[in-house]
Amino acid sequence: MNEQKMFCWQCQETAGNKGCTVCGVCGKTADVAALQDELVYETKRLSQVTTALRKDGKPVDKDINHLVTVNLFITITNANFDADAIKAAIAKTKTMRGKLATKDTKSTKDMVGVLATTDEDIRSLRELITYGLKGLAAYSKHANALMQDDEDVDAFIQRALAATLDDSLSVNDLIALALETGKFGVAGMALLDKANTSAYGNPEITEVDIGVRANPGILISGHDLRDLEMLLEQTAGAGIDVYTDASVPLLSGLQEVSALRRQLRERVVEAEGGVREVQRPDPDDDELRRAACRILQGQALDDRRGGIPRMPPYRRRIRRAKVIEQAKKCPPPTGIESGKIVGGFAHEQVFALAGKVVEAVKSGAIRKFVVMAGCDGRHKSRDYYAEFAKALPKDVVILTAGCAKYKYNKLDLGDIGGIPRVLDAGQCNDSYSLALIALRLKEVFGLDDINKLPLAFNIAWYEQKAVIVLLALLYLGVKNIHLGPTLPAFLSSNVAKVLVENFGIAGIGSVDDDMKLLVG
Ligand code: SF4
Ligand code: SF4
Repeated sequence: MNEQKMFCWQCQETAGNKGCTVCGVCGKTADVAALQDELVYETKRLSQVTTALRKDGKPVDKDINHLVTVNLFITITNANFDADAIKAAIAKTKTMRGKLATKDTKSTKDMVGVLATTDEDIRSLRELITYGLKGLAAYSKHANALMQDDEDVDAFIQRALAATLDDSLSVNDLIALALETGKFGVAGMALLDKANTSAYGNPEITEVDIGVRANPGILISGHDLRDLEMLLEQTAGAGIDVYTDASVPLLSGLQEVSALRRQLRERVVEAEGGVREVQRPDPDDDELRRAACRILQGQALDDRRGGIPRMPPYRRRIRRAKVIEQAKKCPPPTGIESGKIVGGFAHEQVFALAGKVVEAVKSGAIRKFVVMAGCDGRHKSRDYYAEFAKALPKDVVILTAGCAKYKYNKLDLGDIGGIPRVLDAGQCNDSYSLALIALRLKEVFGLDDINKLPLAFNIAWYEQKAVIVLLALLYLGVKNIHLGPTLPAFLSSNVAKVLVENFGIAGIGSVDDDMKLLVG
C-alpha cells in the first residue's frame, strides 16, 4: 500500500473517487499540495481578521480582497503548480495578516489540510463550502481584471472562509452557509457577466471555426477574457494564431464593439475541449516548463501554468513575449478535427428568441429542455453525455454552458423550427445566463416554481467552478439535478443524504434509465 503523502479530493478526477494521496491525478505533487493547503489555511486566517474588522465597521482594502481571491484561484484544479509562487503568496498573506491583526490566534500545522477536520460531516461541508468559494473567487478574479468589484461578494467570501475554521458551527449551520454560498455564487456570476458584457458586448449567435490554420499557434485556456485580449494584442501581426477552448461568448460579442476586436475575432480559433490534458508541464523543456506547455501534437503553447497570478502586468507581458517567441519556432498545429460550431446563446440572445421559444413550447414542437451544462474530462465514463445527447428525442432542446458541450456540440442535432437543439450560452460562468433564461420562462409561463418548467438538469462536473454553479442552482431552488459522472468524493454519506432528501440530487445511471427519468 502506498504511503499517504498528501490528501486532495476537490475534483471529479480524484484517485479512485476517494482522494489523491500520493500525487494528484492532475499532476500536482505532494509538495505543491502541502503548499496549497497552507495557502488556503492562511487565507482563512486572514479572512478571520478581515471579517472581524468589518464587524467593527472598519473598511477592508480592495487589495486585500484581491489577495484572497487570487490565493483561492491559485489552488483550484490545474491553475498553478509553481511552488515559488505559492510560497510567495503564503508569505504575503501572513504579512498582511500581521499588519491587520490586533491579536494573534492559534495556528498549528495540525490545522492545515482537509483531514485536519476529524468529523466527516463537518469536514464534508467545510470542503463543499471552500470549493464553492474557490469557484466564486475564480469568477470574481476575472471580473476584477475588468475593473469590476463587488464588496458584498468579497466580504461574504471572507466571512465564509473564516466560518470554515469555526468549531462552534453545527452541521445545520454549515448547510445554511453552503446555500448562502450559492446565493453569492449567483451574485459573483452576475458580476462577471456585467464585467464581460460591459467590456466586450453581449454575445451574439455566431458560427466559430474549430479547425486549425496555417500559422503556429498559442493555446490560452480559462475564463480570463482580459488575459485573452492582452494576448491577442501582443500577438497582433506576429503570424500567430490563438486557440482557445471556451471563448465563444467573447468572440460572438465582438463584432459590434470595435475594429480592433473585429480583427481579433478573426484570429481566434475554438480548440477541442480537452484543455486540462494540455495543461500539464512539459517535462522535457525546462525553460518553458513553468511558462508553457505544448498541445495539439506539441505545437501550440499555453502561458497560464506557473505563477502568472502573482505577476505584475509588465512581467506577464515579458512572459507572454517568451511564449510568443517559442511559438514562432513551432510548426503550425496539425488538425485533429475541422468544421464549425454555433454559440453565443447567452441571455440577451435567447430573450430575443423568447417569443419563438414560447410558441414552440405551447405548440408542442419543443417538449422539454435539458440543461446539460458543466465540465468535460478525460474519463471514458463521460461518453455517457454524448450518448445521452444522441438519444434525446428530436423535440427536446439542450441548454448548455461550460466544457461539457464538447461531448456533443459537433453532433449536428439539428433544430426545431429554426431554434437549434443545442443552445450554447458559453463558459461555465454563463450558467448565469441559463438561470436567467429559466427564470424568464417561469415568468412567461406564469409559474410559481422553476421546477414546474419543462426543464430537467443533467449536469457534468469536474472542478470547483462547477461546485459554485451547483450551489447557485440549489440556492435558486432547482430540484432533481442529476450530477455525474460520479458524485463528489467530498460528500459524506450524511451530507449526500441531505442533498438527496432536500434537493433531489442524484447521480447518473444508464442512458436509457436516465432518459425515462428526465424526459419521460
Ligand atoms: S485537484 Fe483533483 S486530481 Fe488534482 S490532486 Fe486534487 S483531487 Fe487529485
Ligand atoms: S466547465 Fe468545468 S472544466 Fe470547464 S472551466 Fe468550467 S469548471 Fe472548469
